Amino acid sequence: MSFESLGLMPVILKNVLKAGYETPTPIQRSTIPLVMAGKDVLGCAQTGTGKTAAFALPMIQQLAKNPLKDGAPRVIRQLILTPTRELALQIYENFVTYGKNLPVTPCVIFGGVGQQPQVDALHKGADIVIACPGRLWDLMNQGYVRLDGVETFVLDEADRMLDMGFIHDVRRIAAKLPQKHQTLLFSATMPAEVEKLAMDLLHNPESVKVDPVSSTVKKIDQSLYMVDKANKKFLLAKLLKESDIESALVFSRTKHGADRIVRELKKEGIQSVAIHGDKSQSQRQNALAKFKSGESKVLIATDIAARGIDIAGLSHVFNYDMPMEPEAYVHRIGRTGRAGRDGTAVSFCCIDEIKQLEQVEKLIGKRLPVKQSEWPMMVTTPTDPKEKEAARQLAKAARLAKLGRTAEMPKKLTVSGNAAPERKAHKSAAPAKTSARPEKAANPAAPEMKPRFGPGAAPSPAKPLPKGGQAIVIGKGGKVQAPAAAKPGKTSAAHGLSKPVQRVNRARGRNGER
Ligand code: AMP
Repeated sequence: MSFESLGLMPVILKNVLKAGYETPTPIQRSTIPLVMAGKDVLGCAQTGTGKTAAFALPMIQQLAKNPLKDGAPRVIRQLILTPTRELALQIYENFVTYGKNLPVTPCVIFGGVGQQPQVDALHKGADIVIACPGRLWDLMNQGYVRLDGVETFVLDEADRMLDMGFIHDVRRIAAKLPQKHQTLLFSATMPAEVEKLAMDLLHNPESVKVDPVSSTVKKIDQSLYMVDKANKKFLLAKLLKESDIESALVFSRTKHGADRIVRELKKEGIQSVAIHGDKSQSQRQNALAKFKSGESKVLIATDIAARGIDIAGLSHVFNYDMPMEPEAYVHRIGRTGRAGRDGTAVSFCCIDEIKQLEQVEKLIGKRLPVKQSEWPMMVTTPTDPKEKEAARQLAKAARLAKLGRTAEMPKKLTVSGNAAPERKAHKSAAPAKTSARPEKAANPAAPEMKPRFGPGAAPSPAKPLPKGGQAIVIGKGGKVQAPAAAKPGKTSAAHGLSKPVQRVNRARGRNGER
């Protein structure tokens, strides 16, 4: 199927061709005709599928073919709500590209920057508004925005809106739309609350489903390194230096972690930039611009900041930290291998992240192939939850101290390290205990997987146990147990490691780190 056969007007076809698109992606093939026919659409599509063009192209055509009568006041005719500033900017840029030489005026609205230029753009007469819900609601309350002329409403990344706590704002904004309008709702996953929102907002919708979240993009070469937390920075530096990397996006669990990685890479002679919620909008845009122009090959990001960023030709994604939510793995690695290109996704997992790794593997329905490095996992005892909490408290106190505020210091601190996650996921995004929600349920096609650790663990095929080595088994509560007739504490077969396990002096840092 070609773009021509979708009934797009010649100017749009020219713009699409200029953008380098030859054939429509599956979501575009199914969505464009529905939007043109004025239907409501419930689209289940993960990032990187060409979803933006799937709604933007027919929307631009609708505006271009039905201009307002001469002299009629210009009103907002199309509204797109999206969760992050980066995504809003990206969608705006797409509308500009696809709508070139057509009488359409997009405008972008998001928080974290002064509102006046946005208010001015609205006054000049924008007919398409791409907005983040918080700032839009703010401007609506100040009387700068009216939505009673909206003909098409798009809710993009609805599941992320939920995770980020925007659903309330979305509902308030949707309530201000005129009775009659077309609604398109897109979400990579369909948790119960998004389903309910869809039922409330959509009228007789047509469903479009492409690539459920559990099917990771096939062209992505995925691999895993079992590596101690303290050694991740060395491994990352080595891989960045050695591999054939054009551009790499590195995911950190925390904002502080992201900054730390930038510093550590600098020591290894690798320039990188970080984007996360503590950076100002201009810092984030600068970092993105440097990365997109190739000036900086490595971008370090947290999940929230990276959401929706589209970087053409991204060759590698590194999961420096395993994601807290398994779906985030699919979103992360979806940043590479976009629109049919190849890509590589490399994950680092330390002993404290085994649970997250297992959740990811359950979701994608396969084991990630393990690769060996010169920093094999040596620490096989998970950090005591009390130590973790103490470290968390310490990090929090340090952050508050930086801001000139005080916090009760934990009484006893045994280890330093872990910072708190950037933002806790919305309560409703937590895995359901009993229901088999599609995005959380294990992939039915998944082969039965033996646990990586503990009794019944499959020996790693990666490396045979060396002669004389003995397996260490991680038992309940993270205790190291020696199997019967085995001398404890020599090697770990559970990780397929061949080197002797070192004794770890936690007071000095793991793995001998000073
Ligand atoms: P999206 O899922 O909208 O974020 O799009 C992901 C990437 O695919 C973007 O870089 C788009 O420019 C690109 N893209 C969208 N549609 C097509 C297409 N039909 N052919 C090739 N690339 C596309």
